[in-house]
Amino acid sequence: MPTSRDQQPVTDQLTAANSRYAAKFTDPGMDAQPVLNVAVVACMDARLDLHAALGLRLGDCHTIRNAGGVVTDDVIRSLTISQRALGTRSIVLIHHTGCGLLDLTEDFRHELELEVGQRPAWAVEAFKDLDQDVRQSIQKVRTSPFLPHTDDVRGFVFDVRTGLLREIDPENGQER
Ligand SMILES: [Zn+2]
Repeated sequence: MPTSRDQQPVTDQLTAANSRYAAKFTDPGMDAQPVLNVAVVACMDARLDLHAALGLRLGDCHTIRNAGGVVTDDVIRSLTISQRALGTRSIVLIHHTGCGLLDLTEDFRHELELEVGQRPAWAVEAFKDLDQDVRQSIQKVRTSPFLPHTDDVRGFVFDVRTGLLREIDPENGQER
């Protein structure tokens, strides 16, 4: 069983931490609509602490994360529910420096198929240019027919070494 830090199985560490968390937890009495009416789409990278990096508190936003922070059909599904059922209006897209997807290609998918004998239905969504992929992601969100609110969609690259966000200009490929 995988262990880390104190040789306890990692999931046991998590559930022990949860017991301590729950002991101090008080019901915030919130409903499911995010306080700031914003949804954040970001990479799953472990070095990106969204709440700390963006000054977010419990209940403030929806966070939708996957490998790369790419706008897949499933991300559109979550954003659609976020906007239509839970009242969010703004979308923030975050990629980051040193992303694992920069080192992958669609070969990953072909190698996987050779190994397991089945072609995955999903694309790897690998990219070589962070800024360009953020621009494409903004475009995908803005042109989705399912999303009623696409006037406030902004995209960023988070620098894992400095903790700073850099905004990507969606139009002309220049940094803002
Ligand atoms: Zn990443």
